[in-house]
Amino acid sequence: MEDRVAIRLKPREEDRILAGHPWVYDNEIARAEGSAASGAEARVLSGRGRFLGSGTLSPGSKIRVRLHSRADEDWNEAFTRRTLDAALGFRRRVRDLSSESARIVFGEADGLPGLVADRFVGTPLGPDGEPAGPAGSWIVLQVLAAGAEARKAGIVRVLADALSPEGILERSDAPVRQREGLPPAVGVLEGSVPDRIEIRENGLGFAVDLAAGQKTGWFLDQRENRAAAAVYAPGRTVLDAFCNAGGFGLCAARAGAASVLSVDSSEAAVAQVRENARRNGLADRVEARAANAFDLLRELEKEGRRFGLVVLDPPAFAKSRAALEGAARGYKEINLRALRLLEPGGILVTCSCSWWFDRERFRAVLEDAAADSGRRLRYLEDRGQAPDHPVVSGYPESRYLKCVIAETVDSGQ
Ligand code: SAH
Repeated sequence: MEDRVAIRLKPREEDRILAGHPWVYDNEIARAEGSAASGAEARVLSGRGRFLGSGTLSPGSKIRVRLHSRADEDWNEAFTRRTLDAALGFRRRVRDLSSESARIVFGEADGLPGLVADRFVGTPLGPDGEPAGPAGSWIVLQVLAAGAEARKAGIVRVLADALSPEGILERSDAPVRQREGLPPAVGVLEGSVPDRIEIRENGLGFAVDLAAGQKTGWFLDQRENRAAAAVYAPGRTVLDAFCNAGGFGLCAARAGAASVLSVDSSEAAVAQVRENARRNGLADRVEARAANAFDLLRELEKEGRRFGLVVLDPPAFAKSRAALEGAARGYKEINLRALRLLEPGGILVTCSCSWWFDRERFRAVLEDAAADSGRRLRYLEDRGQAPDHPVVSGYPESRYLKCVIAETVDSGQ
């Protein structure tokens, strides 16, 4: 029997899907006929029998079907190839793929549900941090849904054919896989992949830990925001909170910041910041500290420390609707504390990467924090994610990253 299922929605559940949304939730389904296999081809019909699109089945997930096409077509290797070609065509317009690392597949936003692929261009590093092989490109995959999982071998073949990377590494260790009933999967799928490479970004060299770094090893979505923040950095003392491998702080240092204090709760991340600072000859102006940012912000305030620029780039505080209230408290607390640490005319660069916590909620938190701090904010830039993480209509989840740059307007200014 073919792995194929016909999904009939309940009456009037089709509007969101007709507007372009790629997910069918379990509670929208009236009946399913056919295979219940993980990743099976699904054809979705409205309650009245109107054809809505082709997707793949996630039997254990609330997101029961992820649509890959509005036509009647399987997600086979030819489909992957065509869709990847389109994704690469777009990336070539926003990135120089010969020298720049980029997210080349951003899941549903690129029509390949549950699949994330970051392509890194760089040089392998040995344990001593020195170059340890010829330059090349490597792809890091995250396979986050049952449909993509069932097609993984074909996806790897297509990526290898289209891009001839030195190697392809799977880093499917994100917790969202559990919701799909999939165990974590980590390992080299093709060629060979060094544990660490050096990539170039914003004129700096960064050691990226492909094997053990967070997510795919490097946060490509903040590239333009790091450069935008650095514009305000010259002459200022900078606090880079939730710094990971140091992207924001090192960009600021290179742009002429007087000093940078980079903080992350991960010891491994802090070690990377130190190495990346040395790598770029910036160690004399960059101090990296392992600490809980919530605690450290409080301590710095107690010590009477002041900064000219504070970056806040925390992990997603809201991963579901239920977490929104707690997230609002978390965002409020760090933003309020950051405002208290800012010198007159200081710059706040504040981010939220949680889709659930949308622009309006984030803006409301900043308004609240400003009011409580007794300071007025002048909003300078309302930014989003790097263009290689496209935002598409009908799929609001694709617009997830917020980066607001604001300055304090203090009396006498
Ligand atoms: N700003 C980084 C990306 C940050 S990702 C960049 O430009 O690449 C979020 C970071 O927050 C992770 O590195 C994680 O280790 C760190 N983190 C999570 N909880 C934290 C906490 N309570 N205090 C400090 N850092 C934390």
